[in-house]
Amino acid sequence: MHALKSVDPEIYNLLLQESCYQLESIRLIPSENYCSKAVLEASGSIFTNKYSEGYPGRRYYEGQRYIDQLETLVCQRACALFGAEHANVQPYSGSPANLAVYLALLKPGDAIMGLSLPHGGHLTHGWDVSVTGRFWRAVRYTVDRESGRIDYDAVRDLAKKEKPQIIVAGATAYPRTLDFKAFGEIAREVGAYFLADIAHIAGLIVGGVHPSPIPYADVVTTTTHKTLRGPRGAMIMCRAALAEQIDRAVFPGLQGGPHNHTTAAIGVALKEASTPAFRDYARQVVINAKVLAEELLARGFNLVSGGTDNHLILVDLSNKSVTGKQAAKALDRAGIVCNYNTVPYDPRKPFNPSGIRLGSPAVTSRGMGPSEMRQIASWIDEVISHIDDEARIAKVAHEVREMCRQFPAPGILLEDFEDSRPSTQSQINR
Ligand SMILES: *Cc1c(COP(=O)(O)O)cnc(C)c1O
Repeated sequence: MHALKSVDPEIYNLLLQESCYQLESIRLIPSENYCSKAVLEASGSIFTNKYSEGYPGRRYYEGQRYIDQLETLVCQRACALFGAEHANVQPYSGSPANLAVYLALLKPGDAIMGLSLPHGGHLTHGWDVSVTGRFWRAVRYTVDRESGRIDYDAVRDLAKKEKPQIIVAGATAYPRTLDFKAFGEIAREVGAYFLADIAHIAGLIVGGVHPSPIPYADVVTTTTHKTLRGPRGAMIMCRAALAEQIDRAVFPGLQGGPHNHTTAAIGVALKEASTPAFRDYARQVVINAKVLAEELLARGFNLVSGGTDNHLILVDLSNKSVTGKQAAKALDRAGIVCNYNTVPYDPRKPFNPSGIRLGSPAVTSRGMGPSEMRQIASWIDEVISHIDDEARIAKVAHEVREMCRQFPAPGILLEDFEDSRPSTQSQINR
C-alpha cells in the first residue's frame, strides 16, 4: 500500500480503518462476505485500464487479444459451474442485471410478479420506488402469515389471475429453501418467463446445499459478491435461445464497457467456488446459521418461519420491547454488525421496523463454527437484553474483539499496511 499511502493518505487511512473494522467485528450481514486475496488481486488489477464494448470476437475497440480470452474463460467457468447454456458476466451489479433481463424480455407496462419487498423480495422485483415498479406493472406475492413461507398454491392462483409476463423467484430476506421447480411449473402454466434471482444463495447452490434453478428457470441472475464470495458484480445465465436478447439488453441496451477487472475477479471466484473446499464452506454456512437460529430460539427470540434452511435468519423482535433499529445500532456498538429489517406483516415502518437480519456467510469464511455461533447468540441476547447499558455493551465489544483476533479474515492482512494500526483506533467499532 506504499503508493496509496503517499498519494492519498486520507483514503489510505480509511482503508486501514475499514480493514481493522472488518477484522475486529463479527459481520452478520447475510449479503456480505470476505473475498480472497486472489480475488482482490484480480479486482485491483490493470484489467481496469481496458475498454472493450461488445462481446468476445465482436468488439468495438481494438486491442482485445487478452480481454477476449479473459471474458470467454470466465463465461465458460460460469456455464460449467452452474450447468447453464449461456452466461453474460458483464452486468455491473445485481440490480442492473435484473433490469437487463426485463429490458430483454418485457415491453413497457408488462407485469413483473415478484415477492413483496417487506416479505423478503428485492427492490428490483417490481417495488414501487424502483424503476422496475414504474416502467412495469408490479404483481406481488407474499409469504403466508402463519408459516412465514411462500405458499405455492397462492402463487399459482395469483399468477393465473394476473397473467404476468415474468415471474421472479429470489429474495434478500427469506430464510427457507426456494422451490424453483414449482415456480417453473407455475410460470409455464401461465405462459410467463421464469427468472430466478439467486443473488443471495448462489454460493449455496454451487456448494450443493440449495437446489439449483437450472433447468427450471429461463433466466438466472446472480450477484457475485454475496455467498459466491467474489468481487462486487453480477452475471446473467439463460437458455441458449434467449442468449442474443439478453446480451443485447446488457450491451448496448443498458451498459457501455464491461468492468474487465471485475470479470477477472469473478473468474477467480468461480474457480474457487468449484473446489471441494468451497463445498465444505457452503455446508458450514448452513450448519452455522442453523446453530445460531437454535441458540436464539432457546433464548426466547422469535424467528420468521421458525428457523432457517439457508444462510440467513430473520429475527422478529416484537416480543423484546426493542425495535430492529435500536437492536442493530446497539449490536454494532458491541462489534456485531447486522441490519434492521422488516418482518412479514410488520406493523412498523421500514425505516424502523421490527426485525433484524442475520447471516452466517462472512463469519464462516473466517473459519468460525458452532461454538462461535453459540457465543454470538449469547452476546446478541446480552446486548438486546441490556440495550441501555453502555458498560455492558462495551464489555461485549471487548470480548468480540478478543474472539475475532483468533480468526483471520480472508483477504485482509494488516502487514500490507506500513503502520499496522490506524491513527484513529478509538473510532473502530463505532
Ligand atoms: C443483492 C440483491 C440484488 C441486487 O444486487 P446489487 O448488486 O446490490 O444491485 C438483487 N436481487 C437480490 C435477490 C439480491 O439479494
